[in-house]
Amino acid sequence: MFTSVLIANRGEIAVRIVQACRALGLRTVAVHSQADGDAMHVCMADQALCIGPAAAARSYLDPTALLFAAEVSGAGAIHPGYGFLSENAGFAQRVEEAGLRFIGPSASCIRTMGDKVAAKRAMRAAGVPCVPGPDERLPDDPAAVSAIAQDIGYPVIVKAAGGGGGRGMRVVEDAASLHAALAQTREEARRAFGNAEVYLEKFLGHPRHIEIQVLADAHGQALWLGSRDCSLQRRHQKVMEEAPAPQVDAAELARIGARCVAACRQIGYCGVGTFEFLVQDGAFYFIEMNTRLQVEHPVTEMTTGIDIVQQQIRVARGERLAITQAEVRTEGHAIECRINAEDATRFTPSPGLITRWRLPAGDGVRVDTHAFEGYRVPPHYDSLIAKLIVHGATRDEAIARMRRALDEMVVEGIATNLPLHRRLMREAGVVAGAADIHHLERWLRGTAVHAAAPQEALQT
Ligand code: ADP
Repeated sequence: MFTSVLIANRGEIAVRIVQACRALGLRTVAVHSQADGDAMHVCMADQALCIGPAAAARSYLDPTALLFAAEVSGAGAIHPGYGFLSENAGFAQRVEEAGLRFIGPSASCIRTMGDKVAAKRAMRAAGVPCVPGPDERLPDDPAAVSAIAQDIGYPVIVKAAGGGGGRGMRVVEDAASLHAALAQTREEARRAFGNAEVYLEKFLGHPRHIEIQVLADAHGQALWLGSRDCSLQRRHQKVMEEAPAPQVDAAELARIGARCVAACRQIGYCGVGTFEFLVQDGAFYFIEMNTRLQVEHPVTEMTTGIDIVQQQIRVARGERLAITQAEVRTEGHAIECRINAEDATRFTPSPGLITRWRLPAGDGVRVDTHAFEGYRVPPHYDSLIAKLIVHGATRDEAIARMRRALDEMVVEGIATNLPLHRRLMREAGVVAGAADIHHLERWLRGTAVHAAAPQEALQT
């Protein structure tokens, strides 16, 4: 089995993976673009290779460059992290064909779950509840499509089968606007994802986003590791996450968790993954599965005590899971704030030199980051510069700890969204828990500071 891992990513997740590999005694190979020569993951890894220019398309997203780097360095496996090529079935396949281990599920599992219609069909077959709506291609006959929408009941949402990143979706309020919405979404999907297939489902008006982390080995054993609530979102981007999801019926959650595990077994899933649900009035509706590590995995680590990245690497090495479902315990409450290099009111990116950097510390505080004082945040990539994670015995204790940690954290030289998080941690709806997915945008629209911001920040 492999003894060295090439990390096909950058930023905090590349650092996190280097740490996990080191804990397992594995050699690490970092790759970087010309813009990331001085990045922390590059300094930490045992070996580092420049794979191309700053533009991600010519470096972190270039399969040929990555495979060449793996060959040159003698790496036995590739960890894709999240984003970039992590859910690209073609890349996973090429990695396997090159005789390397892709640290993730098989290319065929990635392919099935990457097609949201196929994913929905597979989940229904495994008994996972889905949003009402068919899990087949829409018929060509417009009258038949109208009948399907009528049957679901308006409002409905048109979604691209190959969509991602919150794009390729359109809400349809009534029959009069259905066909125009279908045509527009098809055209957008064709251009953005190279796949014009769309599907219809019920539009839920006030759901929460609740997800279930799973972990499966290659020997048919799978576990679910509790829930996360990621409802605080802006433009479908998660801003803050917590585990467990507050105010959810424990018996219903356990029933859904068991279904997720059964689905993993049924599709031969190996690795870590996340089942995403919309939850409205207590009912769970599957929307998609992410076949990779997620940004918010630390809140699950803090509540279960399980190192998800190490487990992911272990199962990729063919090891059996060493714990049983009965041994998975969640304790206390964890919250994660995504600290971005962006203006806290306008949300415009703020790359540049960090002139002062002070991190919070103390009991129950964890920071996953690649930034440091003197680091220049490049303008080419995602604006995430740190994940501030806290754990407390109760949700109230976690909130108090997060407030203190946010107040302690100092970043100068660039703008960050720290002020937004400080206000959110004191906002009544957030403190009460169980806010829906529109809560943050509603609140942003309603606050005086944001009302004065330019139009860009007001659109949803
Ligand atoms: P993506 O892969 O682009 O993230 P998802 O299917 O996960 O797409 O949906 C992203 C977001 O869109 C959800 O978190 C939710 O806010 C909204 N959404 C998706 N489907 C529905 C639905 N049926 N009803 C209401 N909102 C939805």
